[in-house]
Amino acid sequence: MPQIEFKDIIKTYENTVVLDSISFSIEDGEFVFIVGPSGAGKSTIVKMLIREEFPDSGCVLFSDQNVFDIPQCDIPNLRRRIGVVFQDFKLLNSKNVFENVAIALEVVDAPEETIKNIVPNVLSMVGLTNKMYSMPNQLSGGEKQRVSIARALAHEPDILVADEPTGMIDPVSADEVMDILEKINSLGTTILMATHDYNIVNKMKKRVIRIENGKIKSDKIGGTYNG
Ligand code: ADP
Repeated sequence: MPQIEFKDIIKTYENTVVLDSISFSIEDGEFVFIVGPSGAGKSTIVKMLIREEFPDSGCVLFSDQNVFDIPQCDIPNLRRRIGVVFQDFKLLNSKNVFENVAIALEVVDAPEETIKNIVPNVLSMVGLTNKMYSMPNQLSGGEKQRVSIARALAHEPDILVADEPTGMIDPVSADEVMDILEKINSLGTTILMATHDYNIVNKMKKRVIRIENGKIKSDKIGGTYNG
């Protein structure tokens, strides 16, 4: 069975159809770009997967379970299995790098020993061991994004979902972020990245699902931004 399956998803906002019967599936360990012009519905797709948004009809299966049927009390568990990275990093400026990553574990009452083990581990994954005690305002945009990736990895998620992760950083830092995502993927984590950065998509040569006018325009392994 696929790890993720979107089935006949229809979503309208204020009488405008944003997603018009979208279906696709993603296998365990894939690296997939969702591309399309601004407003195409890429973020809406990401939000449905983490149950922040509901469709008008259709379902999203994650490991064969319809995420819209998951009881509210199990939603934190779903969100631990899916690490999420946003364009704007969402770091707490009053906390250092270590603390920003530790938060993900503190909210589930992880023991201090666990936190002391995991946080340096995930920071090493993203190449930030030497910035562990820096404050966010001492970091470049690319470094901030790497902190947010480390935070998303703290629960060893099955999937890492990234919504425009390179949207606010320079091209060199963006390449570094993509190298890290590729490394995470090679260790077995599925990556789903929504982006309109065609340079990156064309460079990476991964599967590309292109959404346009509410429909899947193309879906190609080793595809380019324009299909
Ligand atoms: P993308 O990520 O591809 O830029 P989005 O998924 O953010 O696209 O948005 C798709 C469309 O839905 C846009 O036209 C946007 O304005 C609209 N939209 C998104 N969220 C809402 C909302 N909460 N209320 C009304 N319209 C929304």
